[in-house]
Amino acid sequence: MSWLNRAKRGVKGKPKATRPEIPDGLWTKCPSCSEILFRQELEKNLWVCSHCQFHFRVGANTYLSFLLDPDSFHETHRGLTSEDPLNFKVGKDRYADKLAKARKKGTLEDAVVTGRGEIEGAPVILAVMDFNFMGGSMGSVVGEKIARGIRDSLESGLPQIIVSQSGGARMQESILSLMQMAKTSALLGKLRERAIPFISILTHPTTGGVTASFAMLGDIIIAEPKALIGFAGPRVIQQTIQAELPEGFQRSEFLLEHGMVDRIVSRSDLRHVLCKSLRFFTKDEAEQNLEDGSAEIVGDTGASPSLFAARREEEVSRRRDATAGYSLPDDDSA
Ligand SMILES: [Zn+2]
Repeated sequence: MSWLNRAKRGVKGKPKATRPEIPDGLWTKCPSCSEILFRQELEKNLWVCSHCQFHFRVGANTYLSFLLDPDSFHETHRGLTSEDPLNFKVGKDRYADKLAKARKKGTLEDAVVTGRGEIEGAPVILAVMDFNFMGGSMGSVVGEKIARGIRDSLESGLPQIIVSQSGGARMQESILSLMQMAKTSALLGKLRERAIPFISILTHPTTGGVTASFAMLGDIIIAEPKALIGFAGPRVIQQTIQAELPEGFQRSEFLLEHGMVDRIVSRSDLRHVLCKSLRFFTKDEAEQNLEDGSAEIVGDTGASPSLFAARREEEVSRRRDATAGYSLPDDDSA
């Protein structure tokens, strides 16, 4: 018998029946402290490592479940897909194929999910990015969906919350992806003009064109602990400035120290902090409290609702004066 026809013997080992039955993915290694974590516990802990508090990257739908009241989410602007107008390819790798593959992987159409939901009863408009879809990169669809979400806020007057998680602009869409930075920023400018609150939540990682546009334009910028947040990668910076970078560079804690983010909030506190911030910002809530007499004080800010309403009006007129003389593009052109 020729060795070519020899039947496969396989690897000798323990017979199957005596092996302990451990289903795949029961344990997960923490990428920060290398601790082996029980997956079920991790899920219960909102995907936060119990040893080092590292916040694991989670998909958009999981993140929405952390933030919103159960069953309050209504997805909007589905059905937008990239057309690959540049017919982009690197060698044999076509962008269109990559997109199709990413879509097949899950339920996502692109790297962001937009919609409307409620946080402790307070309605909000949200956009949550997802790193699982092409590294959360911002192409024309991501930009457009975020822009449409901001327009929803402009039309309804509801606060905007954007959760960022991205490697930056999508290089396969070249200039079209870079244009999304200007488009989203211009619309956020309109939101600001009308004093509609925008809360930006930065998760691990938020880099490149996303950091350089909407992610850093929040009225409040919240970061998750130990998240990598920056524009260019540390290696590129080190090579450019030819100097050793300080410890913890581009992490949330470093950015908080240097005034780039307002607050670091762990996932378990996020809903509470958002709720308090929304109460502080929204006039409706203040007025409602005043009407039903349920609260004379809003949150722990020390401001009475009527005082707050007056302050907001003042702020709107101040912003109007400040922006007199130049105008932002119309909704249609953005
Ligand atoms: Zn850990």
